[in-house]
Amino acid sequence: MERETLEVDVLVVGAGPAGLAFANHFQQQCKQRGMEKAVLVLDKAGELGHHQLSGAVMDPRGMLELFPHAESEGLPIQAKVEHDALWWFGAKKKRVFKGAFCPPPFRNHGKWILSAAEMVQWMAAKAEEAGCEVYPGFAAAEVLYGEHGEVLGVRTVDQGRDKSGEPKGNFQPGYDIKAALTVFAEGTRGSCAKQLIAEKKLDEGRNPQIWSVGVKEIWQVQKDWCGHVYHTGGWPLGGKVYGGGWIYGLPDNKLSIGFVASMDHGDPSFDYHAKMQEWKTHPAMRALLEGGELLKYGAKTIPEGGLYSIPRTWGDGFLLVGDSAGYMNTQRLKGLHLSIKSGMVAAEAAAAALEKDSVSGSDLARVDTLFDQSWAHKELHKVRNFRQPFQKSFAWGFLRAGLDTLLGGRLPGRLGVHSDHERYRKSGSTIAEERPAFDGKLTFDKLTDVYHSGTTHEEDQPCHLVVREPDLCIKRCTEEYGNPCQHFCPASVYEWKGADEGLFINASNCVHCKTCDIADPYQIIDWVVPEGGGPIYTGM
Ligand code: SF4
Repeated sequence: MERETLEVDVLVVGAGPAGLAFANHFQQQCKQRGMEKAVLVLDKAGELGHHQLSGAVMDPRGMLELFPHAESEGLPIQAKVEHDALWWFGAKKKRVFKGAFCPPPFRNHGKWILSAAEMVQWMAAKAEEAGCEVYPGFAAAEVLYGEHGEVLGVRTVDQGRDKSGEPKGNFQPGYDIKAALTVFAEGTRGSCAKQLIAEKKLDEGRNPQIWSVGVKEIWQVQKDWCGHVYHTGGWPLGGKVYGGGWIYGLPDNKLSIGFVASMDHGDPSFDYHAKMQEWKTHPAMRALLEGGELLKYGAKTIPEGGLYSIPRTWGDGFLLVGDSAGYMNTQRLKGLHLSIKSGMVAAEAAAAALEKDSVSGSDLARVDTLFDQSWAHKELHKVRNFRQPFQKSFAWGFLRAGLDTLLGGRLPGRLGVHSDHERYRKSGSTIAEERPAFDGKLTFDKLTDVYHSGTTHEEDQPCHLVVREPDLCIKRCTEEYGNPCQHFCPASVYEWKGADEGLFINASNCVHCKTCDIADPYQIIDWVVPEGGGPIYTGM
């Protein structure tokens, strides 16, 4: 099949905070060095920002380093944090820790509350002003390699295939986009990054990445909470699940609320969406949301492993940045500033290498030195062993991580961790834990929530959730784990219809959270890029 080929100097796969920080800073670096390079940024979302989801209270440090005058230059900041506290939930009551009693990671005074979607639109406009091309609507489907294994670029997904993969009348083959340097910035569990990490064994010698799932809603409420930031711990999570909730006050009487639960809990019937709905039934949450209206819904996975789970981020012809590499501070539940910084150090390494006309791994490896010398490394190094002990038990985690935090991360050693999917308890046919009743006012079923995510996909296209060994679902999974996909997917994509009919996949509901690609116990689900569509996270 003939494909059109496009050649650029630098290709960035993903127009999120890390990819756009790279693009902007690379152009700044080129200017300083008197170089001109063609930079192309691709994104799978139909419009910029549509697939960006975050809390989002941002530590401004990375952004201010990239754009010292971001505020006066119009970065859309919704509010600055004025009041913050930790709410600890018992089943019926809440305790409030604030001021000196609020643990330092939950102190956010002065931080920026913003919409990640709006932020990347602003960053993309800046990148275009600086001379980059930014194309939404182009999803990278596979990595292109040269004869010596070097990365040559990506192939974008074919458009216009039917369900069985046959070309339709409007068929358009994907493009081969070749570049001297390709930067993978696809966000959490990037599908090309996943291929690349496996192909190049980039995670060799590292801890496996572990994850959580964050489920988020935007509400219109009665009272003005703008500038208030609350994190919640305790109920409804028992001692075996790491996680908690957030409540961020936005302008115009809107609230961003969300619930994050780790994936290493071991319970095959755990339902992230249902847990978030249950959380909203706490009296403190009810009081906040009473008389309000659900506006938006979304979900995404969050890399939680920390410093020791970051894979090698460089090789011949490529760099890896942002959530795709796992730059995230789990203790602070913050990653945007680290993603931006990871893009910036990658840009400096790339500019230095390209100035010598090189994109070899040994030249791009300078990114390690730059990162190691940065404040981002210092921040992550302090919490390098924070998350791992919670895998043993919450009590042990609390003790070990608490002591380490008090000592400023000085407890020695490197703690290991097991992959999330290895932690499932084999339980025979699992009886799913009781779900809350969804009343349609405070709590909603998955399909109603998916409607509020704005998700659509063309129905007549190959399924983008590829179950490589579907026989396993019937032959082993039902017996061993009770088909956890029907529970963990926050968008009701997987329907288990019993041994006779098997698994039904409602791919058009998919909100691109990537949970299934990570949480499947046999690791046989591949999330591959659809030809378009997905959620629309504007205003989130
Ligand atoms: Fe998330 Fe997978 Fe469900 Fe899509 S199918 S919403 S990626 S769990």
